[in-house]
Amino acid sequence: ARAAASGQPIVPGALADGTPVPLLANVGSPKDGPAAVELGAEGVGLFRTEFLFLDSKTAPTVAQQQEQYTELLSHFPGKKVVVRALDAGADKPLSFLNDAHEENPALGLRGLRALRASEQILLDQLTALKGAQDATDADLWVMAPMVADAEETQYFVKLGRALGLKTVGVMAEVPSLAVVADQVLATADFVSIGTNDLTQYTLAADRMLGSVASYQDPWHPAVLRLVKMLGDAGAAAGKPVGICGEAAADPQLAVVLVGLGATTLSMTPAALADVRAELAGVTMEQARAKAAAALAAQTAAGARAAADAA
Ligand code: PEP
Ligand code: MG
Repeated sequence: ARAAASGQPIVPGALADGTPVPLLANVGSPKDGPAAVELGAEGVGLFRTEFLFLDSKTAPTVAQQQEQYTELLSHFPGKKVVVRALDAGADKPLSFLNDAHEENPALGLRGLRALRASEQILLDQLTALKGAQDATDADLWVMAPMVADAEETQYFVKLGRALGLKTVGVMAEVPSLAVVADQVLATADFVSIGTNDLTQYTLAADRMLGSVASYQDPWHPAVLRLVKMLGDAGAAAGKPVGICGEAAADPQLAVVLVGLGATTLSMTPAALADVRAELAGVTMEQARAKAAAALAAQTAAGARAAADAA
């Protein structure tokens, strides 16, 4: 294992029976790379690129972007780094991508929808990512946010491959994508589940709205059942299905997500140690039993209790 900056070797995530579960970091800037390595990240599972440009009035150039992406990738030689195309709109508006007023921006022209409507911005970003892929030894994976179905998947994957990107996938954040996961995985190299938005859209509760905050709980069996659909489709297709929403940072839920078929977990780096320790204490058989118990519950609280008791 490669030595972290502290001198401690990075311990790969694994279950008690030895099943590997790579533990990756969610980052918002190349500057987050060293701390993620220090905290034991085996790579990056989500780079939220829109965070770089929240204050930009105009679209960033290819050169500007390539510099940032190359800087992040250079912290992870030989490691997987999953970069998300700009997720503009709703809670993260970018003035150069989201100009129209929308009554319900979470249901509006956001994520891949906004990029498709301003295709040159998407082409520039993918071109910059290809440059970073060529300039470093990191294993670059690129994914699109807010993808609804197989047609949108085909659009994004075809574009990414045409521009020379090696590994191209989509996020599962819209419930429709989970329902047609088999169709999506016929094209995509991988799926990464964004449990924050998947929960928001499954329970139809705005994640920014305090009055419905109690709905924003990824333990809800409806969310877990969608994760299982995605995990099953990934296993059938022989393709990775990761988690990059905040749910992966909850150690008990991380175990359940692995039991549902998640092959990697990405989280805020501060959560890596606790999740690693929890996973090391359960076998895949136990994780699956906890997942089955949670799936049969009727509420989020019930699922948490059932998983704990299983
Ligand atoms: C998610 O929706 O779970 C996710 C990882 O993306 P974001 O939180 O940036 O919307
Ligand atoms: Mg999201």
